[in-house]
Amino acid sequence: MQGRVASLPTSLFFLSAMPRPIHATIRLDALRNNHDVARGQSGAARAWCVVKANAYGHGLAAAVEAWHDKADGFALLDLDEAVRLRESGVRQPILLLEGPFEPADLLAIAEHELTPVIHHADQVDMLLSAGLPYRLPIYLKANTGMNRLGLTAAQWRPALARLQASGQIGRITLMTHFADADGARGVAWQMERFDALCAGTSLPRSMANSAALLRYPETHANWVRPGIMLYGSSPFPALKSAADIGLMPVMTLRSQIIGVQDLQPGDAVGYGCNFTADKPMRIGVVACGYADGYPRHAPTGTPINVGGRMTRTVGRVSMDMLAADLTDLPQAGVGTPVVLWGEGCPADDVATAAGTVSYELFCALAPRVPVSVVD
Ligand SMILES: *Cc1c(COP(=O)(O)O)cnc(C)c1O
Repeated sequence: MQGRVASLPTSLFFLSAMPRPIHATIRLDALRNNHDVARGQSGAARAWCVVKANAYGHGLAAAVEAWHDKADGFALLDLDEAVRLRESGVRQPILLLEGPFEPADLLAIAEHELTPVIHHADQVDMLLSAGLPYRLPIYLKANTGMNRLGLTAAQWRPALARLQASGQIGRITLMTHFADADGARGVAWQMERFDALCAGTSLPRSMANSAALLRYPETHANWVRPGIMLYGSSPFPALKSAADIGLMPVMTLRSQIIGVQDLQPGDAVGYGCNFTADKPMRIGVVACGYADGYPRHAPTGTPINVGGRMTRTVGRVSMDMLAADLTDLPQAGVGTPVVLWGEGCPADDVATAAGTVSYELFCALAPRVPVSVVD
C-alpha cells in the first residue's frame, strides 16, 4: 500500500486535493471586546483571564495575542502550558488552578514565577518542605460548599497559620469557588462561610467566576476569575443571552452543504432512522460530524444557520456529517455555507438544544478542524 501511495504523481495529487469545507475561525477583536466587558463589570477588582483547556478550545496563543496588553493575569491548570506562556513573553502573574501535583512541580513553579493554588492539606506540607528559593506568592483555596477542591473549615486556620509563620511564603490570597452562581442557589450561602473563614485577616480575596462577576458585584473582592464570558458565551443563557451582555462570539465553526436529498412522507434520515418525514422535505447534508467536535447527542431541531438563515438539524449526527432541513430554504444547495455555531448561530442555543453548555462545544472542537485566527 505504501508503495502505491508513494507512486502517485504527487504534484497532480496536491493540485487536485480540496480540503474538506469545515473550518473554524477565532476572532481576536471579539476576545478583546469580551475582556473589556468583563473589566467594565468588575469594578476595582483585577481580573485573571481563565485560559485553562487551551483557552476553552480557542488556542492559548490566540488568547495571549488578544490579551497580552490587557490581562492582569492568566489562570490555567497545566504546568507545561504555564511555562509556554512564560516563554512566549507573558510577564503577568500566572495562576495554577490545581497547584502542584508533586514536589518537583514546585521547583518549576518557582523558576517560572507561577502562583500555585494550594487546595489540599498535602500541598501545604509539600510547599513547606520544598526549600523554595524565594517567598512564593500563593492562593489558598477553601471548600465552601462546591466540594471539589479546597481545604475544609477545620483545616483552614491551622494551614493558614503554618503558611504565615513559615517565612517561605509571599503574599497569600484567599480563594473559593461558587457551585451555583449561575443557578437558583446563588452565592450568599457560600459567601457567608467564606467570610467566616476570612474573618480576622486582611488578606486579598478572589471568588467570582463569570456568572458571579456579572450577577453578584459583592463577590468581586480583589481578583475576579472570568472564563466563559471572555469567549463570548453567557454564563447563564437561560437568564440572559450573550448578546444582551454585550459579548461577541469568538469561535465560529463553518462548513458547507455537500449533498441534498428530497424526502417523501415516510422517508427516514440517518442512522437509527430516528427522524421520519411527515411531508415532502428537502434536506442538506453538512460536512460536519461528531469527529469534528459537533455533539452526537444534538437532537433533531438543534439550530443551524444555512446560507444566512436559521433552520434545524434532522436525524442523528454521524461521524463526519449531519443533516439540515432545507424545506423552507429553496435557494440552499450543494456549496451553501453553513454555520454550526458562532456568528449567526449562538453557541449557547446549540448547546442548550443539545443538553450541554457551550464550554463543552468549544473544548470538543477536534484537532482535525483547521483553525484560523483573524483580527
Ligand atoms: C474555570 C474556572 C473559572 C472560570 O469559570 P467560568 O464559568 O468559565 O467563568 C474560575 N475559577 C475557577 C477555579 C475555575 O476552575
